[in-house]
Order: sequence, then C-alpha cells, then structure tokens
Amino acid sequence: MDKVEHIGIAVKDLEASNTLFEKLLGVSHYKIEEVASEGVRTSFFKSGPNKIELLEATNLESPIAKFIERKGEGVHHIAFAVDDIELEITRLKNEGFTVLNETPKKGADNKLVAFLHPKTTNGVLVELCQEIRQ
Ligand code: ZN
Repeated sequence: MDKVEHIGIAVKDLEASNTLFEKLLGVSHYKIEEVASEGVRTSFFKSGPNKIELLEATNLESPIAKFIERKGEGVHHIAFAVDDIELEITRLKNEGFTVLNETPKKGADNKLVAFLHPKTTNGVLVELCQEIRQ
C-alpha cells in the first residue's frame, strides 16, 4: 500500500458541506462527480498534499444514506493508493481481511476501487484505489 489517497466524509447536504469545507480548507472543490452505481454524489478538495472526498447519498438505498442513518455524518472511509489493485486484493485476502468486492469497480475521480469490510479492520472502512491507466 502506498500513501493515504483521500479521506471520505459522509454528508447530508453536499452544497452546504462544500461551503463549509471551502471555509475550513481555504480552497474550492475542484470537481463534483456522481457515481450512479453507488448512489452517491461526490465532491473533491485538494489542500496541500491532502485530498478530501465528500459523499452525499442520491437515494435511500445508498451505502451513504445507511451510514448516516446509523452513525450520522462524519468520516466514512480512508482510501489508500495502490499500484496494482488485483495484487493487493489477493495479498489482503491471504492476510485474512474480508474484501467487500473482489472484482475492483469504477469509482469516482478515475479510480478502480475495492473496499475492506470494517469488521476486519478495527471498524474502519478501508478503500483501495488504483489510478485507471489509459
Ligand atoms: Zn473514496
């Protein structure tokens, strides 16, 4: 695993949270992207070397809607950059982690992503993400 690629934060209202995080970080978000398959609308901020992803549910079945219902708004996942996502998935499975999707899927911001079940990672939802190479 490489660096922390971004931190994902679940929010109820993306527009209101964009305003809040613009004040907090002193920069504007650089993109808004909907991932229909996940039922989320995301926005991204870069602040120094750090990247923050805000996630808003677009329907009640969205994992973000369910997360907010259970826990309220807040840190949702930590994403680590990986060079070869298939290799990392195999390595982590062999180490005993539960991978939620063993076939990487297309995430926001030109990434292939896979998630580890929080029950095997001390309650932290871990995202692996690999840049999609053209
Ligand atoms: Zn993410």
